[in-house]
Amino acid sequence: MKLYKTDALVLRNLNRGDTDQLLVLFSLEYGKLKVIAHGSRKITSRKRGAVQPLTLTRFLIHRGRYLDSVRQCEELESFPELFLRMDRICYASYAVELVENSTVEGEANQILFAALVEALRQLGKGDPEIVARAFALKLITLTGYKPLLDLCAKCRKDLTGKALAFSPSAGGFLCADCAREKSEDQMVKCHRGTLETIKLMLAWELSKLGQLRVDAKIRGELYFVLKLHLEYHLGYRCATEMLIEKLKYRNNRYGLKL
Ligand SMILES: [Zn+2]
Repeated sequence: MKLYKTDALVLRNLNRGDTDQLLVLFSLEYGKLKVIAHGSRKITSRKRGAVQPLTLTRFLIHRGRYLDSVRQCEELESFPELFLRMDRICYASYAVELVENSTVEGEANQILFAALVEALRQLGKGDPEIVARAFALKLITLTGYKPLLDLCAKCRKDLTGKALAFSPSAGGFLCADCAREKSEDQMVKCHRGTLETIKLMLAWELSKLGQLRVDAKIRGELYFVLKLHLEYHLGYRCATEMLIEKLKYRNNRYGLKL
């Protein structure tokens, strides 16, 4: 089969030469793919709109010896609400970066594909920070790194007490006793409310979570829990997350909201 069809989200596009682009896609049928789109940068190209990042596109792809190439493409959904606010586009970029860095080329993950499409829809409607955190938790679970949430990751007893901790190296949350004992670098203290919020984010659909009210303390703890967990398992720091933190810091200084 020289040609194959797939629906895919464009995660990134990189210019190649004067008129071509290398696309990083997350496809329904084949997982992550890298393909070349010949001529897509030309003003007159019919591919131009459909190969933009954060676009859901139906592709007809030609299998090449070294690199597959786009024969035809048709835009299915472009999530225009994301581009109306800085926080929405930042958290959409965060979701896309996590997918690119946590998946392997050629390995389909249809549940993760559906979750990413739904996350992009909900990021344009609800609280983008909460939708993005919930998506990151679903991604962690779907890629096999779900933390232990029901028992202490160290002593395996019930997670009693209010002052808990999270340790990615132990594999999840620690009870109040183990949190007091354990003193390693990769650990973040957190309240029971953060654990309960994580459980809720994993149990609920993304479409419900955009309206969830979460206070600043829990938002801060969620940030640190996810940052530590993703760094520990993916082995890298999310660049978009660092950009978001810089923007928040700058905006706080000037009394603005990201
Ligand atoms: Zn314990």
